Amino acid sequence: MSDDPIRRQVGRPRFWERFALEDLSSAEWEALCDGCGKCCLNKLEDEDTGEIALTRVACRLFDDGSCRCAQYEIRKQFVPECVVLTPEKLRETAYWLPQTCAYRLLYEGRPLYPWHPLLTGDPETVHEAGVSARDLTVPEFEVDEEDWEDHIIEEPT
Ligand code: SF4
Ligand code: SF4
Repeated sequence: MSDDPIRRQVGRPRFWERFALEDLSSAEWEALCDGCGKCCLNKLEDEDTGEIALTRVACRLFDDGSCRCAQYEIRKQFVPECVVLTPEKLRETAYWLPQTCAYRLLYEGRPLYPWHPLLTGDPETVHEAGVSARDLTVPEFEVDEEDWEDHIIEEPT
């Protein structure tokens, strides 16, 4: 089992099943992230239909091998548009978050998937389940924005 870059041993027992998102501590909130990395992939939104298409073109700070943000703590200095999720923000962002994103699932009243590291105790299980962005991406500095549509993918779920 590899070291988990996200602190999971925090908070109240099975807090994600027992408390509203608004009532979680900041440590519990951070522990909810499954580490899939899919929110770091660029999306294309159809202006007319609102339909979202996922691409494999990743944010410039995304590290494909570790499936992590390379500068998570100070990321806003480099990527000001990076969205910092909060319970309030979910109202306007949930629709474009990945289908398996823990924040989206709980916001929509659905349970976590059994591969979630909070349930398995192992950060690798999100990758073993084939639902993460690891080894899937190309960096955005290698692809012109007008060519992103050539890199549209189905979300791995
Ligand atoms: S999509 Fe959700 S669960 Fe996956 S890395 Fe992003 S915030 Fe975490
Ligand atoms: S700045 Fe970091 S967390 Fe934000 S989208 Fe880019 S890689 Fe992901």
